[in-house]
Amino acid sequence: MDVKKETADLLVKLGVDAAALSGGTMPSYSPLTGEKVADLSPVSSSDAAKAIEEADAAFRQWRLVPAPRRGELVRLLGEELRAAKSDLGRLVSIEAGKIPSEGLGEVQEMIDICDFAVGLSRQLYGLTIASERPGHRMMETWHPLGVVGVISAFNFPVAVWSWNAALALVCGNSVVWKPSEKSSLTALACEAIFARAVERFGDAPAGLLKVLIGDRAVGEVLVDHAKVPLVSATGSTRMGREVGPRLAKRFARAILELGGNNAGIVCPSADLDMALRAIAFGAMGTAGQRCTTMRRLFVHESVYDDLVPRLKKAYESVSVGNPLEGGALVGPLIDEAAYKGMTGALEKAQAAGGAVTGGERVEVGPDTAFYVRPALVEMPKQVAPVTEETFAPILYVMKYSDFDAAIADHNAVGAGLSSSIFTLDVREAERFLSADGSDCGIANVNIGTSGAEIGGAFGGEKETGGGRESGSDAWKAYMRRATNTVNYSTVLPLAQGVSFDI
Ligand code: NAD
Repeated sequence: MDVKKETADLLVKLGVDAAALSGGTMPSYSPLTGEKVADLSPVSSSDAAKAIEEADAAFRQWRLVPAPRRGELVRLLGEELRAAKSDLGRLVSIEAGKIPSEGLGEVQEMIDICDFAVGLSRQLYGLTIASERPGHRMMETWHPLGVVGVISAFNFPVAVWSWNAALALVCGNSVVWKPSEKSSLTALACEAIFARAVERFGDAPAGLLKVLIGDRAVGEVLVDHAKVPLVSATGSTRMGREVGPRLAKRFARAILELGGNNAGIVCPSADLDMALRAIAFGAMGTAGQRCTTMRRLFVHESVYDDLVPRLKKAYESVSVGNPLEGGALVGPLIDEAAYKGMTGALEKAQAAGGAVTGGERVEVGPDTAFYVRPALVEMPKQVAPVTEETFAPILYVMKYSDFDAAIADHNAVGAGLSSSIFTLDVREAERFLSADGSDCGIANVNIGTSGAEIGGAFGGEKETGGGRESGSDAWKAYMRRATNTVNYSTVLPLAQGVSFDI
């Protein structure tokens, strides 16, 4: 496969100007082969600031457009995404190394969130609240917020943007997006797809979506700019530790979607066939490069010797290779740094008494590509590196005997994104979902930790940042809430019985 040529052909087909792919100083690589596929031109800090000003001007017009009409733009975006699905999905596979069904699945997520947002554009409802004063009405109204900054990670190069953008747009905001420097090509494709929707829409203000190609320095412009009232930043907890305080300093809102260290608990009554499949996808799928990847597993001692050997077999036999040639289930790591992170963690785990199955490098094509066999590590107890997120396919497996202790260990890490329990015992399942069960933003029963649907609010607690995006009422973060009290009486009673007669 000629990755460079196919990348350029796909981008041009998706509407990106071929001239944007060469002559710049920011190289783009495909993890499938590790080869350079483009040289993009990053924006300067001053151009980034200018783009934000333009997006702010667009917001000032867009906020006056009725929300259902705003929804029409997002409906058209969904249509354009449907038309582009196979090409964009393939580009996601080339740029992020995902297997074809996951590349396409990521575009499907974009389509789904557009559908959701179109419905939402006819809601955006507020409450009416009983007033203590006679002849008064109290209510909440929701208003557009401003420019929404989106910073995204390499591993969901397009879906995460759409989760934010579809909601932000129907809520009356404009969007400035800084994609990962490791996956900016798909962002250029989305920009072109969005432009087609805008053209069909007819009278949208210019500057509703700005894509800022660049590294973290460009992200910092977004984070520090006074005209960006909300930044939704997806990436590592390290990034969140830098971005969070800077946003707090200027009282901007933050939706932080950071690292996960997700675990599953397999109980004595679990359906082990089902658990096996869910764990295999959750831990090895996407080559362990999902924020929701299952990284820790607590298995009850009564089923350990039944489940773990079967899991190890799956680790030994899963197909690793170029997912666009021959149907492998595990594609490449994003780059050499990810590979080094994985080998470093495995060495640490072995030093702490871990027994490793898999984890070796698999030669696929040139040595600039980093393919690895996923690793299952049986650990005597939960110590570093188990307590840290390593963004690679490593599953640490630990035996438990006491359910309370398993829940305590489950929660005893910094991150709090996703979690799951495998049990047919309703008491265990409900306890896991209860106030003293899993402390994560996502808690599942009899399914794995990854593969969320867009209808639910997505995000996690603790070092995962506390942000929520996508479905449910996550839209509220993209709007400004006003509480309104209307006095339709002929007198002016004050609340709480206060008197102030002049
Ligand atoms: P990363 O933190 O290296 O980069 C993410 C983005 O942040 C990039 O666009 C980068 O340029 C930008 N960035 C980094 N430092 C910045 C700064 N100081 N100011 C402004 N922008 C900055 O993450 P990555 O390697 O691309 O992605 C993997 C990580 O993302 C993992 O930790 C994974 O768990 C996490 N992730 C979380 C979610 C979620 O929803 N919780 C989703 C996907 C990925």
